Amino acid sequence: MDKMPTRKSLMTALILTCMAWVSAPEQAWGEASHWGYSGKNGPAHWGDLSKEHAVCKTGFQQSPIDISQIQQSGLAALEIDYRATPLRVINNGHTIQVNYAPGSTMTLSRRQYDLLQFHFHSPSENTLNGRHFDMEVHFVHKDTEGRLGVLAVFVDTGDPSPALAKIWQHMPNHADGKAAPADVAVRGGDLLPSSQSYYRFVGSLTTPPCSEGVQWHVMKQPITASPEQVDQFLAVIGANNRPVQKSNNRLVIDSE
Ligand SMILES: [Zn+2]
Repeated sequence: MDKMPTRKSLMTALILTCMAWVSAPEQAWGEASHWGYSGKNGPAHWGDLSKEHAVCKTGFQQSPIDISQIQQSGLAALEIDYRATPLRVINNGHTIQVNYAPGSTMTLSRRQYDLLQFHFHSPSENTLNGRHFDMEVHFVHKDTEGRLGVLAVFVDTGDPSPALAKIWQHMPNHADGKAAPADVAVRGGDLLPSSQSYYRFVGSLTTPPCSEGVQWHVMKQPITASPEQVDQFLAVIGANNRPVQKSNNRLVIDSE
């Protein structure tokens, strides 16, 4: 008889079960940083992984997008002033990122943005008339009011990129890996195309928390990397592109 559960122990078990159910979403939110690019933590679920990520599914100006409908044209040229920076490269588990020393800027119509870092996606996140490129470089900037501006450069396979070769040589091959080799400098400008005409639109971060109000500038002309260089990145990071999001009649402006 003493093995039979008492009414009190049943109630305790029931309460504990309820508490477990109630606390489960909190635990899930606590694991918000565990987002990824496939399965239950993949892009389709980012908005549910954390309340801080809700805009990933409720937003109306999410990135990336397919650039195909151009509604306006005529923009000032981008003034890009990227200095050489000591190579500081990290593998954050989602991408390979090069952190930039202060002093490099992108200026558009007198609004100046400071370059913070650049990182890579493969395949490209934004698409051009429905086409993915093999990679996309994102130069992430912030202005003095905290507004984010991204300059995106498509990468097509072709000739190897000497700048990528230098970075890949020090690419940490595991999450949270870092490299800061002595006497190695990189120039963001070495990853820019010769023609700097671009498309501009408003979007979001392409990773959680998917914050909106990001000014996007996508270069029309791609740079090149060898197929081996693309494969080297994929071997370490894997595919890391968020699928294209609804444009919702977003205004896309052509610089020309
Ligand atoms: Zn990015």
